[in-house]
Amino acid sequence: MSAPKVSFEFFPPKTPEMEQKLWDSVRRLEPLRPDYVSVTYGAGGSTRERTHEIVRRMAAETSLEPAGHITCVAATKSEIDRVLRDYWEAGVKRIVALRGDPTAGIGAKYAPHPGGYAYASDLIAGAREIADFDISVGCYPEVHPDAPSLRSEVENLKRKFDAGATRAITQFFFYPDVYFKFFDAARAAGVTQPIVPGIMLQSNFKGLKRMADLCGTAIPSRIADLYDGLDNDPETRDLVTAHVAAELCNRLAEQGVDHFHFYTMNRAGLSLSTCRLLGIKPEVQPQ
Ligand code: FAD
Repeated sequence: MSAPKVSFEFFPPKTPEMEQKLWDSVRRLEPLRPDYVSVTYGAGGSTRERTHEIVRRMAAETSLEPAGHITCVAATKSEIDRVLRDYWEAGVKRIVALRGDPTAGIGAKYAPHPGGYAYASDLIAGAREIADFDISVGCYPEVHPDAPSLRSEVENLKRKFDAGATRAITQFFFYPDVYFKFFDAARAAGVTQPIVPGIMLQSNFKGLKRMADLCGTAIPSRIADLYDGLDNDPETRDLVTAHVAAELCNRLAEQGVDHFHFYTMNRAGLSLSTCRLLGIKPEVQPQ
């Protein structure tokens, strides 16, 4: 079996120290030759500007293919279109097109911006008119909190592919069967494009639990048990995290999954060790 493809997701850092850590991580992960890397998008102006700067810098200074996340939240169509045109002109040919989390935070009620794109499918259609972007979208094997059923979740995903998306990346999950059930439902609904599992590399279990609760991701008690008593032992938590992630990837790979998208939390070590457990080694040894 050949080694799977990987992609890595980063977030825009808030401080100069975190910025240094991000670029160190980017440089350490670059030799793994990921398919692409992506940078998330916040709701405020300054964090958005940081995303644009990081994505443009990745395109200009690294061998990586960066994808800028972009959302419909708090912006007019023309503001979003300008970002897309700027990306294309800067050589950024990939985007991750999302509705976005409401400005008041995950769980708050979403209202489209007047004059903006209302949903991800509208944004995808708009981006397609601007340039021939490679467009990733989000999808939710455990069903998005705003969606009434798995069926409507899959219908929405199909709408995004019909609007021109290239691939979907899943919300993080821990049960392989959750992914396969969703995958089968999507295929049955006529989705033929790749559905790439998003693999979480958050070793802070309290933070992981908080995120999982907000997103509706179930954490198996077996995994919760592995972290039990490790609150003050980050080193062991990291080892557990890489093991859990690689185990999940291997279970998925056994059934033919050949691309994994890692939520890196801007840390290279966890991605490097998980990839190594999957048989993916850097082309050049990191220093
Ligand atoms: P959509 O696909 O637009 O769907 C959202 C909900 O609206 C669904 O329940 C759908 O059924 C419903 N809906 C869709 N179209 C219609 C319609 N025409 N009429 C009525 N209802 C409709 N958030 C950020 O803010 N920044 C990021 O960088 C970011 N990155 C992410 C990366 C990944 C891989 C994933 C999985 C999520 C990410 N998110 C990010 C979170 C995401 O923005 C939220 O989960 C958001 O609530 C939904 O976004 P979406 O693009 O999936 O929405």
